[in-house]
Amino acid sequence: MKINIENIKKLFNSNATKSYSYRVAMLDKLYNIIKQNEQEIIDALNDDLGKSETEAYITEIAAMKSEIKYYKSNLKKFMQPERVSTTKTIFPAKSYILREPKGVVLIISPWNYPFYLSITPLILAIATGNCAIIKPSEISKKSTLLLEKMINESFDNNYIKVVSGGVETTNGLLENRFDHIFFTGSTTVGRIIMQKAATHLTPITLELGGKSPVIVDHTADIKLAAKRIVWGKLLNAGQTCIAPDYVYAHLSIKDELIKAMISTIHAFYLENPIEHIDYQRVVNEKHFNRIIELIKKENVVYGGNYDINTLKIEPTILDNVTLDDKVMQDEIFGPLMPILPYNDLTEVINNIKNGEKPLSLYIFTNDEAIKKRINNEVSFGGGTINDTLQHLLNDNLPFGGIGNSGIGKYHGRFGFDELSNLKSIVDKSTKFDIFLRYPPYKGKLKFLKLFLK
Ligand code: NAD
Repeated sequence: MKINIENIKKLFNSNATKSYSYRVAMLDKLYNIIKQNEQEIIDALNDDLGKSETEAYITEIAAMKSEIKYYKSNLKKFMQPERVSTTKTIFPAKSYILREPKGVVLIISPWNYPFYLSITPLILAIATGNCAIIKPSEISKKSTLLLEKMINESFDNNYIKVVSGGVETTNGLLENRFDHIFFTGSTTVGRIIMQKAATHLTPITLELGGKSPVIVDHTADIKLAAKRIVWGKLLNAGQTCIAPDYVYAHLSIKDELIKAMISTIHAFYLENPIEHIDYQRVVNEKHFNRIIELIKKENVVYGGNYDINTLKIEPTILDNVTLDDKVMQDEIFGPLMPILPYNDLTEVINNIKNGEKPLSLYIFTNDEAIKKRINNEVSFGGGTINDTLQHLLNDNLPFGGIGNSGIGKYHGRFGFDELSNLKSIVDKSTKFDIFLRYPPYKGKLKFLKLFLK
């Protein structure tokens, strides 16, 4: 059933959300709501995902707060008309770009970082002067409930509103003509959202997932590589869109890398990781069963055990994995680390290129030529060299996928442009008027040719 959004449209059309002072006041309000609810957020994340307090604070609370601070301190600059030079064909005039809010934005978010991935697009919507509806995931129940309470009790719901529910609710919302849809989730659902958006020709941002490869070559600092790969993989128990999905390890360093990865796991989570308080569980039984199905016993060189009662799966290293293995067919989104040995980098590059374009790619090497070659030859959304996940954390870099891993970019200036209409304005002088452009053209072409050559 269609969910009515007319009142939100009405508020947007009143222009109330557009001024600098309104945007700043709403960003301040959001900041305070997050601050007041820190403990509730930590508790909800623990309930939904078994997230530790530290990870909850760093990856969700601190991340949201820093995003608000960033947009607050850059808002004036981003809202300024941007002067550009004027081409001689339209001289004399002034030319500039105005960034105007698009209108009502629908934000659809996933369960893996339920606050950060709902609130970050909301911060953008506020900063750009838009109104927004957030449709969080029905899987992260406690977080969705809290989001609903935090937002709906504090903001004018004709301005910002959380609408909770599953597929039916999303469909009810999508019957409306939104001015932008910002979707974060799986590629499969992204495709459905894009089809629905096409009905109204609504612009979309699709922040999707996929398999993000890691390449560790023979020149890499192996201990450091192991530490940074394991950290990136096991954060949120591997349920991170840009988590390193699988590792291509040069044959000459592969065994050393596996040994270092095992030492790292022990250093992080001791001998029995699934008992460790900082080691997270999988979100639900459906995902738990999906992930354990991917563990081929004969490939396990570390881990491989799990506990259905706690929904925890051991950090699991799978050696000598091939492209035909089940674990290589789809995004893992869990704590399994397949290792694919290689000898020939060309083959690795071709294999990655034969698959879907990754959201992220990680290279561990000290060879500048290899960095350059991979960046030049392989298409992917973004990446980090000699570490994992770091490119997401720099506001000066655009974040997003390409092809199957997404459409559109956000973060920093790029996010501001994503939710704005870049309106082109030419302000023409009335002081004089070049008569050559007007008919009748007889006798004018030779002068025009002189001017336009
Ligand atoms: P999902 O696609 O199943 O769900 C995302 C949202 O879509 C939820 O709000 C859900 O209610 C809604 N939804 C689900 N099925 C729908 C349907 N048939 N019609 C309309 N709406 C529907 O994704 P998820 O399982 O919540 O999240 C995991 C996925 O998200 C992974 O693939 C991961 O890589 C990706 N992800 C991407 C990013 C990114 O920034 N690129 C960030 C986090 C997660």
